[in-house]
Formats: sequence, C-alpha cells, structure tokens
Amino acid sequence: MTVITQLSAAEQARKVRQGEISASELCQAYLKRIASQDEEIGAYLRVDEEGALAQAAKVDTKIAAGHPVGALAGVPVGLRDLLVTKDLETTAASKILEGWIPPYDAQVVSALRCADAVILGKLNMDEFAMGSSTENSAYKPCTNPWDRKKVPGGSSGGSAAAVASDLCSISLGTDTGGSIRQPAAFCGVLGLKPSYGRVSRYGVIAYASSLDQVGPITRTAEDAALVLEVISGHDPRDATSSQSAVPKFRDSCGQGVAGLRIGIADEMSLEAVDSQVRERVDAAIAELKAGGAEVKRVSLPHTKYALSAYYIIAPAEAASNLSRYDGVRFGMRLADDKSLQEMYEETRGQGFGTEVKRRIMLGTFALRAGYYDAYYKKAQQIRTLIARDFEQAFADVDVIASPTAPTTAFGLGEKTSPLEMYQADIFTLSCNLAGLPGMSLNCGFDDANLPVGLQLLAPRMQEESLLRCAGYYQSVTDWHAQRPG
Ligand code: GLN
Repeated sequence: MTVITQLSAAEQARKVRQGEISASELCQAYLKRIASQDEEIGAYLRVDEEGALAQAAKVDTKIAAGHPVGALAGVPVGLRDLLVTKDLETTAASKILEGWIPPYDAQVVSALRCADAVILGKLNMDEFAMGSSTENSAYKPCTNPWDRKKVPGGSSGGSAAAVASDLCSISLGTDTGGSIRQPAAFCGVLGLKPSYGRVSRYGVIAYASSLDQVGPITRTAEDAALVLEVISGHDPRDATSSQSAVPKFRDSCGQGVAGLRIGIADEMSLEAVDSQVRERVDAAIAELKAGGAEVKRVSLPHTKYALSAYYIIAPAEAASNLSRYDGVRFGMRLADDKSLQEMYEETRGQGFGTEVKRRIMLGTFALRAGYYDAYYKKAQQIRTLIARDFEQAFADVDVIASPTAPTTAFGLGEKTSPLEMYQADIFTLSCNLAGLPGMSLNCGFDDANLPVGLQLLAPRMQEESLLRCAGYYQSVTDWHAQRPG
C-alpha cells in the first residue's frame, strides 16, 4: 500500500484531482504525523489544524462539484514563519512579534491558496532569519530528522526538517545568504533559491531586502519546479519584482544534461571542505558528466571577500528594516506606562534575541557617518566584483557546482562563536550578493549517515538549468527517496 505522505506533491495533486484520495484525508494524514512526531523534531511553531481542514474541505467540495482546481490541489504545505499569513500569528520566531496576527497574506501565500494548496502551519526558523542552525529561534530548537543531536541548518531549519520528515509535503523557505540551501543540504532535501526578483517579497518580513528571496523546499525536482511556477511572476506590490515571463519549469526536469556546461571553481572547492563532503560532491558531478554534461574549471577570484561583504550589507539593511519593531505598531509592547524612549528601550531590549541585537549593532555601526565609506561602500564595491566574477564565469559555463556547505550537519550547541556560525555559509552567500538562482540537492550521505548537499548556481533567470541537473540527477540516483529512520 502506498503511504500517501510519501508521494510527491505532484502525485498527491494528481490523485486529489482525480478523486483517488481526498484533500481532507491527505491533510489528516499529515496532521497525525505532526501530532506524533513534531514534539521531538520541533519543526512547527504553530499548526493551524482548523484552517487546514477547512481549506482541504473546500478543495474536496470544488472537486465534488466538478469545478476546476489548482496545480497544488490539496497539497499540504508548511510555511516559514517569516511569511505573513492573514489571521494566523506570524512571529519570525521572535518574541517581539509574539501575538501579531497579520491582516493580509504574503503574495506567495495568496499564490499557494489560489493553487488550492492546504496550509498546515508556520515553521520554525532562526529569529528574523539570522542564523545557520535554527538555534536562534526565540521559541524552541529544531532538530535534524537524521540525527536529533544535530542542527537542521538554518535559518529555514523548520522548513527543511518538516519536508525531510514528511510533516508537510512541500514547504517555503527564504534565502538571504543560504537559508534555503544550507538547511536543505543538512536535512537531505532539495532547496531552490530563485533569482532575485523572480518571486515577490510582498509580505515577506524583511531581513536584508536586497538579498532576500522566497523559494521551495521539496523532495523532488519536479515538485520544486511546480511550486516555482505557482509562486513566480511579476507583482506590482514589490518594486524589485521582475517582469520576466515565467517558464513552464517542469519541462526542464526531463530534459537531461547532455551538452550542459558545468563549471567548478577552485575558490569554492579548495576551502576547508570535509573530505566525505568532497567525495560525495565529486561523485555527483561525475554522474552529471556521465549524463553528457561537460565539466570545466572556472575562476571566481573575489569569493574570499563574500563573507565580509555580506556581514556588512545584510546587517546594515537589517538594522534599518528592524527599526519598525518598537512596540508601537506590531506585537509586543513593554513599559507602556513609561516615557516613549523607555517603551522603545524595554520593548526592543527584551523583544530581540542576542544575535538580532548583534546584527542591529553591526549594521548601525557600518552605516554611521564617517564609517560609511570604509565599510558599507566598500562592501557594495565587493558585491559588484563578485557579480562580475560570475558574469565572466557564466560566459563559459551554464551552471557552477560546489558543495552547499563545507561540512554535514553540526551538533546542537557545537558552534559557540558567531564567526564560526557565519562560516557555515561560505559557499552560499555569493549567490545572493549577485542575485543568482541557486539550488541544493541531496547527493548522498557521510559515514555518520548525515546528508550531503550539492550546490548548483546559474545565471540570473536561468533556474531551468538547475532543474535540468536536478531532474536528471534524481532520475539516475535515489538519494532523494531516502527517509530518516
Ligand atoms: N546564515 C546567514 C545569516 O545568518 C544567512 C541567513 C539567511 O539566508 N536568511 O545571515
């Protein structure tokens, strides 16, 4: 008997549409898994049982009446808590937003609802998307489904852990410096960060606006393509939203990799990469080569500055974006009976966690008059050089392959200094600085049975090349079908 929670989202939607299973039955199957397993995993901050069952019933009614249904008919989805949901508490995993019930849906959430997806609840993450382990959640830690003593990665740790453990069929995460790809790698699933501008940021709680992008976390390439088709497209409410047409991404998954040129950059492979990660990634690249891809060396000489530039730009934007949380309009308010200044201080002092405060201070410092040229302007110049490196490299290749992260999942509580944690993202950050699409794909396991991620990057608006690689790779391997015991 097929277990319905192990079907791909595309298969689930097809079965729901054809009346082989009902959306309600599917929804209940996931709710049951969440009830029995999530206490240990900690992927969800909030489960909207009532809302999910009501949405599922609506889909079933439509089908019974013979009405057309959307591409994600009845598919149970989990949403990162950075995505604003109408009438459903949204906290960005921060105490400062505790109790905030948004009056509107993010564009991606509306798009999912239009496609008849069923929203199960809100997923755990690092507070305001700052972190690489989900340990910065103000509510509870999330664990890695492959080893409960390890982190699921971050900051979309809940989104990756939920998909890996079948606590939702697909999820959405956001990626500012690696937050879709790194947790996808640590949890053995597929994470796709679209090109900057591909997906609307309307209703996405802003971390670093020039870098943030929403994307799918799924098990299969086809599901990632399907979700991308649903959430992509121009949105006049996001000024940075692209006018580019949305391709039928699913077509790319079956096109194979014959003739595709894959680049390997020394700068992204000679770093301190764990030897087992190296081996798995090399084997995956060899697999793509066997499928007809051509493998070449490319150079990205400014990669070594990406981390420093990112940790100026992202905190600078964050310091500005987070100034709106002052106890006046959103969520928590403390010292209501004292002066305005005291209210700000108490609310922000107690509402934000340590890492968020660190970023606000870093960003404010970098933007101070007198320091602006030395830090922020320099970082922006590096950003341009990094984007140029990619432009040059992509003149010769269609895709650049590397490990997603230098290691597999590390232990809960293991990384004690902020810098050590920041280094978990050395291979993912430059993609965001250049606005490129990027993907992480499970390409096997190390000796401790922890998943290894292969990162693939492509030129702007060329998500199709990533999906070609992923679709082909998953057709000749079965790592993506493995499930934690
Ligand atoms: N880990 C990086 C950071 O802490 C990236 C986070 C993200 O992509 N949201 O900023």
